[in-house]
Amino acid sequence: MMKVGAPKNMIMIDYRQAQKMVLGQARTFGKEHLPLELAFGRVLAEPIRADRDYPPFNRATMDGYALRYSDLAQGIRRFSIAETVFAGDRPTRFIQKGECYKIMTGAAVPGEADTVIRREDMTEAEKEVELNTVAPGSWRPFLNIARQGEDLQSGDSVIDRPCRCEPATMGLLATLGQAMVTVACLPRIALLTTGNEVVAAGAPVSGVQIRNSNRWMLEAALKKSGAGITAYAHVSDNPDRLRESLESVLGHDILILTGGVSAGEADYVPGVLEGLGVKRLFHKMAIRPGKPIWCGVAPSGGMVFALPGNPFSCLVNFVLLIGPYLDACWGLEPPEPLGLPLDAPRARRTPLDEFFPVRLHGSPARLTPVSLNGSGDIRLGRQANALALHPAGSSDLSEGAEVSCYSFV
Ligand code: AMP
Ligand code: MG
Repeated sequence: MMKVGAPKNMIMIDYRQAQKMVLGQARTFGKEHLPLELAFGRVLAEPIRADRDYPPFNRATMDGYALRYSDLAQGIRRFSIAETVFAGDRPTRFIQKGECYKIMTGAAVPGEADTVIRREDMTEAEKEVELNTVAPGSWRPFLNIARQGEDLQSGDSVIDRPCRCEPATMGLLATLGQAMVTVACLPRIALLTTGNEVVAAGAPVSGVQIRNSNRWMLEAALKKSGAGITAYAHVSDNPDRLRESLESVLGHDILILTGGVSAGEADYVPGVLEGLGVKRLFHKMAIRPGKPIWCGVAPSGGMVFALPGNPFSCLVNFVLLIGPYLDACWGLEPPEPLGLPLDAPRARRTPLDEFFPVRLHGSPARLTPVSLNGSGDIRLGRQANALALHPAGSSDLSEGAEVSCYSFV
């Protein structure tokens, strides 16, 4: 068996410095062309311009009667209905003085009409319509008409930086006729969990074993970030097995490991990674939980994140480093923490920057600390939906204190 162990005497770095180092390694995963129906959740990687004016025609924004403003200005109050124009229709004839179109919301207002009076402001009888006496006199040209090009003009830039295809973006892309879109490729991500005591969720579990939660938590976190796992293995605490498993996945764009990075005698991960030529960026961040993280760059250029085994530590490391790294690789701005008040006091537990679970809720929004019995407490997933920061150097936090928080749902 090879003799490798965790490097000793590593200096802990500030998590902001660690973030800078990790983001400094961001690299593109390439681009691909996809049909729009596959684009949801992906990152758009091409600038988009308006293919025509928006609205593309003078659009009626109310059901009513389209007429000539000049008729109103001349005191005409009674109009004969020349035609009914539904959305998608073109009228067959022009209107003359004293005539109007009956028009529906979403229909193109024919050229000679320049005002739409709401249906409820007129009374219709036998192909004629008359303004109600109580109708408001605030008429003006283009009343109740969204004018062609008033939102965007043909050729205008609509999207000029990478953005995630969220529901509203999907609608926008469809509106602009983008049936095929260019999106950033997904990285190939390998996940290795380690630990002799860790067994799969469906497998028999002995009295001294625990179930593998990191696998599913990290896979879900990756999916939420718009990525996924392309290779997965669980490895025992054996440096030879670890080396073999690592050799087969070291060419991935991102490699995530959990467990085996602390100072225990079975914590082989840093030594084996370095033995395989992975260049260390840092080992240990000055935070709690998640301090033992080891981060490096593989010979292929892939990013390696070796996280401690405790589930809450993994989540903190993911939120602080892996999520932002993915975003940076895709050209997205890293998420900014929200500043929100605590609705209960919180005692300081460590001189380091400490991340603690909270429930972000309410109106006005606030944070309720969720008590955990250390980073190995499995109750994390029961109530918490965000991480909050108890900053290094601050004393106990009082009720109402504003803290930075990162949503993880
Ligand atoms: P380690 O970082 O390997 O020292 O593990 C720290 C703690 O996390 C130990 O109590 C492990 O049993 C636990 N742990 C390690 N891997 C996992 C996992 N995949 N799922 C749940 N708990 C784990
Ligand atoms: Mg372990």
